[in-house]
Amino acid sequence: MEENDVGSKEFENAKQEMDRLVYESLKEKEIKPNAMFAKLSELTKAMSVTKGVVKWSRVNSLWPMQFGLACCAIELMDFGSARIDAERKGYLLFRGTPRQCDVMIIAGWVTKSMVPEIKRLYEQMSKPRYIIAFGECATCGGPWWESYNIVKGIDQVLPVDVYVAGCPPKPENLFEALIKLQKKIDGKIESR
Ligand code: SF4
Repeated sequence: MEENDVGSKEFENAKQEMDRLVYESLKEKEIKPNAMFAKLSELTKAMSVTKGVVKWSRVNSLWPMQFGLACCAIELMDFGSARIDAERKGYLLFRGTPRQCDVMIIAGWVTKSMVPEIKRLYEQMSKPRYIIAFGECATCGGPWWESYNIVKGIDQVLPVDVYVAGCPPKPENLFEALIKLQKKIDGKIESR
């Protein structure tokens, strides 16, 4: 055998050895399709759990705004009494700033001059935000239906989620309205 043949044979072996090493190392790093799907399903599961937790927290921590417009606001104050004990459902964290609230309770008639102020408060609330029209005046203008300066229901200017009938409605009715709102947020009753 000539000297050159020995050299080229050695080179050929080294090349094969190198190819084998590269192949082995890539094989270890290869992602198996099943592993990828397992990761995706874990991610989907984690996302749906997170979504459920967010929804659960949203449903069970409604923060109403400390805000009243007319005589229905007296009933709103009674809602905060020990007799109603609204805290048992997690409703009684009335906040003085709209930025910390997600429920606006329209308690009383809405004059046209108040509309820009109510809209501003609504815009400042954190999202998602909800409105309860509490009483006849908030729902349709009530006894002031024909008045020149009263809005015929807050839904003329802002979206209402739950309506409460009565003049005045009772605090218990507000309690029921908040339960309805919870069900609506939870998807148990249909949205408009
Ligand atoms: S619904 Fe009756 S109690 Fe309530 S604000 Fe109007 S007039 Fe007053």
